[in-house]
Order: sequence, then C-alpha cells, then structure tokens
Amino acid sequence: MPSPRPSSPRIDLHTHSTASDGTDSPAELVAAAEAAGVDVLAITDHDTTGGWDAATAALPAGMRLVRGAEFSCVSPTGRTIDGRDERPVSIHLLGYLFDPAHEAIVAEQQRLRDERVNRLRRITEKMAADGYPVDVETVFSLVEDGASAGRPHLARALVAAGVVDSVNQAFAELLHNGSPYYVPKSDTPVEKAIAMVRAAGGVAVFAHSLARRRGRVVEPSVIADLATKGLAGVEVDHPDHAPEDRELLRGLAADLDLVVTGSSDYHGTNKTTPIAAETTAPEALEDLVSRAAGVEVLAG
Ligand code: AMP
Ligand code: FE
Ligand code: FE
Ligand code: ZN
Repeated sequence: MPSPRPSSPRIDLHTHSTASDGTDSPAELVAAAEAAGVDVLAITDHDTTGGWDAATAALPAGMRLVRGAEFSCVSPTGRTIDGRDERPVSIHLLGYLFDPAHEAIVAEQQRLRDERVNRLRRITEKMAADGYPVDVETVFSLVEDGASAGRPHLARALVAAGVVDSVNQAFAELLHNGSPYYVPKSDTPVEKAIAMVRAAGGVAVFAHSLARRRGRVVEPSVIADLATKGLAGVEVDHPDHAPEDRELLRGLAADLDLVVTGSSDYHGTNKTTPIAAETTAPEALEDLVSRAAGVEVLAG
C-alpha cells in the first residue's frame, strides 16, 4: 500500500535525474518522489528533455508530472548586484511545459550539451596536468549516454579516487567557479532562452536567482527587466536561498506579478537535500499552468 498523501498536495518543481547530474534514473526519481509523498513532480534536467519519456513511463497512479528543463544562461551584460561589475552572471532558467520538439530548443540544448562535454574535458585535463588522479575516460564513464555532462560527474570521480570525501567538498575546494581549474561554457543569453521557451508554449521561471554561495548574482532590477520580457516566475524557496533573500524575492514577485515557486533542486546523492525539502503552493502551480500552452501536465 502506498503511504497516505497529505491533504494539501506536495509539489516539487525542480529535480534532476541521470539525464543530467542527478544520481537517480528518471524512474528512480519518480519512485523517490512517490516515497516522499509528492503529488506533483517536475523533472528539470540541465539542458535536456532526455529523461521525460522514462519519467512518464514510470508515473504511478495519482502522481502528476510537469515536464521541464533547466537552461544554462547568462545575464544581460553590464548589470550585476553591485552595479559596477560588468561581467555577465550565470543564470539557471527553469522552462516548463514547452514542446520538446521545438526546433530552436532542440538545437540550443544540443549546442549546450556539446559545450558541456568540451569544457568538462578541459577542466579534467587541467587537473590531470596538475597531478590529480583523474582522466577524461573515467569521468565520462560516469555520464549516461546522451546525458548532460557536468562538474558533479568529475566530483564523483574525485571522490572515487580518494582526493576528496564528498561531492560538496570537491566543489568547495576544487570545482567552484573561482577555481583555477574552472572553465566557463558559452551559455544562452537569458532573454533568448525565455523567448524560446515561450515560443515553444512553455513558461519560464528564474531558478535560485539569489544563491549567493554559488558566485555572483544579479541585482533585482535584472529580474524586473526580465519580467517585462516574458519571465513568468521566480524560485523563492530553494535550499541555497537565505531567509532575507527569500523575503526580498517574495516582495519582488508580488510587485512584478511573478509566480512564486519552491523546490528541492534534488540531485540524488550528489547533494544532501532530500526530494520535496521545499515545495510550491497549489495556486502557484495552477497559475503557471494557466500561463502555458505547450505540453500538458501528465497524470499517472
Ligand atoms: P555545471 O553544470 O558543470 O556548471 O555544474 C554545476 C552543477 O554543480 C550544479 O547544477 C549543481 O548540480 C552542482 N553543484 C554546484 N555547487 C555544488 C556544491 N557545492 N555541491 C554539490 N553540487 C554542486
Ligand atoms: Fe545540477
Ligand atoms: Fe541550477
Ligand atoms: Zn537544478
């Protein structure tokens, strides 16, 4: 017998599978969600819709699936948190319910996955040249066929080689954005990604916009600007958001008529956050769905 579901639906709108840098297969991800009493799950792998079909096939009766992806983007240039630093900021954009066959999205996601392979290879080679016991073949043996490669795959190779004790430690000491081994990838201008998601019938939500521990973040005026360019929502309740930043974002969302979401950003054992650690209100999901015209929310 499945465990009884709580009366208010549990909605987690941001999770990863082995189609990108999570450790659960799409079917295992759905099973983990069911075990956690999740009623509505979004699968949002980095730069791919490759996990959609397997997640759909695994959907149990009573659970709903929001099909999505997390797009690797950059901010408009010249606008960052202190108003002075003009280097673009890395932005993750969650796209939901878009047509996965939309030509521009298919092409851009393929380009980004190729970028990911090249840059992960270069980071690995830089570390190997410095004497770390990692090699390209071992790292890529950890990436599923056709999946989006990412630094967490290298982090796991570093754990397996005994260099660090955990994926977290690998990021803290060696793989963070300020590391000498860091190699950037050429991400999509965020306005372009929003336009693509909308053209494909989907809705776009700014993921963990104030996750300061990951690096530089945008200033609120950038979010206001994106709201005029079709952004539908902001992820407010996210494990990497400080309480004061959640309040700031909630206020901003109210002012700008943006949908407020909450999600775990679950990555299986690559992160410590359990699935459904943060959730989205049912009215917020309804609002998002009402703004979308692409694919349906699937019911199991
Ligand atoms: P990449 O996609 O190669 O740029 O790597 C970024 C990914 O690494 C993010 O999507 C997270 O899944 C993961 N990540 C970032 N920081 C950490 C951390 N401190 N611990 C574990 N995973 C992290
Ligand atoms: Fe990730
Ligand atoms: Fe992200
Ligand atoms: Zn994510």
